[in-house]
Amino acid sequence: MTTTHDVINPATEQLVRSVELATVEEADAAIGRAAAASPGWRAVAPADRALLLRRFSDLVGEHQEELALLEVENAGHTIGNARWEAGNVRDVLAYYSGAPERNFGRQIPVAGGIDVTFREPLGVVGIIVPWNFPMPIAGWGFAPALAAGNTVVLKPAELTPLTAMRLGELALEAGLPEGVFTVVPGKGSVVGERFVTHPDVRKVCFTGSTAVGQRIMRGAADQVKRVTLELGGKSANIVFADSDLELAAARAPYAVFDNAGQDCCARSRILVERSAFDRFMEHFETAVRGVVVTDPHDEAAEMGPLISAEQHERVSAYVEGASDGVDVAFRGTAPEGAGYWYAPTVVLPRSTSDPVWQEEVFGPVVAVLPFDDEADAVAKANDTAYGLSGSIWTRDLGRGLRVARGVEAGNLSVNSHSSVRYSTPFGGFKQSGIGRELGPDALEAFTEVKNVFISTE
Ligand code: NAD
Repeated sequence: MTTTHDVINPATEQLVRSVELATVEEADAAIGRAAAASPGWRAVAPADRALLLRRFSDLVGEHQEELALLEVENAGHTIGNARWEAGNVRDVLAYYSGAPERNFGRQIPVAGGIDVTFREPLGVVGIIVPWNFPMPIAGWGFAPALAAGNTVVLKPAELTPLTAMRLGELALEAGLPEGVFTVVPGKGSVVGERFVTHPDVRKVCFTGSTAVGQRIMRGAADQVKRVTLELGGKSANIVFADSDLELAAARAPYAVFDNAGQDCCARSRILVERSAFDRFMEHFETAVRGVVVTDPHDEAAEMGPLISAEQHERVSAYVEGASDGVDVAFRGTAPEGAGYWYAPTVVLPRSTSDPVWQEEVFGPVVAVLPFDDEADAVAKANDTAYGLSGSIWTRDLGRGLRVARGVEAGNLSVNSHSSVRYSTPFGGFKQSGIGRELGPDALEAFTEVKNVFISTE
């Protein structure tokens, strides 16, 4: 039986649109169409596949403002962020449009003939997207997957299907053949699970919570199905006393409160060298109180609401609902009234075992603790099951590099909070995931190496 999901604007709590959720039968039909389209797509000449992806990229660029506004309505993202996100899909498509013609194999010297390798597409790839960055995370999967010659079925999160659905339409408009890229809105337990169990889906590319990622990995084992998993994070922002402390403090709010903290790369633990702790907190307080939390349509908005009432409850539980209490150092501001607003909040954990220090809050809450020396900073940063990103602030670049090498995480930045560039690899250590997205090597995640020997004797 078909069910629907009411998409709610998180800034106003108003209904945006009702979206039909696919049944298992509809998911099977979409996978069937993707499998049927697969031989034709892989046979498209590399230059023609490149051209289609460039056209798709251009169309996304032409629709950037429309897509951005859709995301403001659907996800409550600030208009500035939403424009960046649509632009990121355009750029990722443009970047991987160069890939079909550069999907090189190797020629390996052997006796008695020629040995060559090919990078063959996998077939149908299933991409499962979370609600926090609906556009970029979709693009990081479908752009390289399509470039490598795979067909794609993509399931957006229940809460945020609208931009992915629009991207599916733009793909057709750009001339991608029917069945090559299909967006299937639906429940994780129905459509997502089907990607895992359907034998024609050869790989699942999942971004989301660690708990669901573990379940997908277990399920994929039955068919030895390939998986890429991009999961949670509890990243550290390590501030040494010799850093430009004012700059580190001014930037720190945006490393964790961007997207209302609903960011797997959020630097939600700040570690400050003890001798600089008080000075840092003084500057940090000014910066946090200055974060502009308002209607995400407002060009000045720096932070919008949380995605849902449920997420608001989950986040509040770490602060207002903490059973042993949590010491709030200071807070920023947030609008009152309708919408799932939560003010930027800075807490001082009582120990490193506090849930707010250990668990991914996925909201605008940051915990701050002092450290004693370099070794202590690295040990505290690594005291987590996650390992996605992190930052180091110091004027001593030797130390910056040593600490970056010491922190067990996939994406580190020194004197910056950048984690994501489409031209560099992205992914997690430990329970933050398996595999890498983006960058020059992403095609490896969407191809299988085939070795062919041709006798010359
Ligand atoms: P989630 O795991 O609940 O859902 C993610 C997606 O999986 C959704 O589309 C959902 O419908 C689907 N899903 C749910 N159950 C499923 C099942 N049994 N089988 C298959 N699919 C299923 O996560 P969320 O709440 O949407 O997103 C937040 C999480 O995503 C956070 O933990 C965050 O850290 C993580 N995240 C990680 C990255 C990264 O790149 N590492 C990026 C963004 C978000």
